Amino acid sequence: EAMLKDAVSDDKVLVSIRVRPSDSPSIWDTTKQDIKIGPQSGKAGQEFHFDNILTGSENKPVYTAVARNHVYAAMDGYNSVIFAYGQTCSGKTYTLSGDPEEPGIIPRAMKDVFAYIRRTPTREYLLRCSYLEIYNETIHDLLAPPSTSAAQPVQIHGTGPNIVLSPMREEVVTSLKSVKEVLARGEGNRRTATTDWNERSSRSHSVFRVVIESRERGSGSETNGTSSGRQTPGFRPPTPGGARLQARGGRSVQTSVLSLIDLAGSEKATSDKERTREGKYINTSLLTLGSVISTLAENSAKHKADHVPFRNSKLTRMLQPSLSGDARISVVCTINPSKDAIGETTSTLLFAQRIK
Ligand code: ADP
Ligand code: MG
Repeated sequence: EAMLKDAVSDDKVLVSIRVRPSDSPSIWDTTKQDIKIGPQSGKAGQEFHFDNILTGSENKPVYTAVARNHVYAAMDGYNSVIFAYGQTCSGKTYTLSGDPEEPGIIPRAMKDVFAYIRRTPTREYLLRCSYLEIYNETIHDLLAPPSTSAAQPVQIHGTGPNIVLSPMREEVVTSLKSVKEVLARGEGNRRTATTDWNERSSRSHSVFRVVIESRERGSGSETNGTSSGRQTPGFRPPTPGGARLQARGGRSVQTSVLSLIDLAGSEKATSDKERTREGKYINTSLLTLGSVISTLAENSAKHKADHVPFRNSKLTRMLQPSLSGDARISVVCTINPSKDAIGETTSTLLFAQRIK
């Protein structure tokens, strides 16, 4: 575990590119870490260097390269955030959620979380999930019934690293199956709440959060000794007010948050409607995210304390506690390698370069 930690902490922000398969030939030449525009594009261009360039349809190598260390860090008490950034249809949702044949980062992460808990019998864990959507700078709780969510958006209370989100549902999860149920319920609410689902999902951010609490296990009474003797991950029934682990007998509670974020499509506005309200909000929040991450990376690399503009968008305000301090950040930028996407792909690579 020590080695894993070091591997993550070397790099404050891990930036990876995922090139989706395409029917038309790719105009980009890639190696393991470099990507440059090829002669097929008809123009000479810049060469970019990143932590990983990933190609193909398999999601397992992507998980291993961009997320696994961050998931382990979260289990060890570090806040960890994984983002998928890119234009609509470039593969953000495929990368994070995947499909039944190729599960994405979220199900693989949760599988690893439960495996980690099973092989750590000396600690007890409590996991609470929430699932949010940010649309036009309003935060909706995807786990609340759609009517409630529209009427009662989630508010950010407090400032700086001490914010509280409410009203927001948190579901205690005890197995990969219960996580999948929570995700499916959120997706279902998201679909029923909107008539133009595709449109809306490409214009909004979705945030899946897991609060991980743990404490050292006691010597007897309060461990849930089941007759089988097996450790059951998560050991408390869901309580409406939100379960919390209590520190007992000097055994402190370690808390961290793992956030997995499918960002709004990064494409430039294409219609007058988009150029108005929605487009402005999306541009502002993605630009702010870029500034926040690049400032954090710069502050960390150069031991500076420049102002980080968390307050310029709901997404970054909400994530401030998870992005500050010892946080582990991984950004996967997804691109379409075909010639007709050259403009958007170039701007995605420039974003990726900026936050590195
Ligand atoms: P986005 O979320 O960025 O809008 P999607 O993840 O929905 O894009 O991807 C668009 C389509 O392309 C989906 O049908 C998806 O299954 C497919 N796709 C995206 N990336 C890959 C990939 N790396 N391998 C295979 N199919 C992919
Ligand atoms: Mg998507």
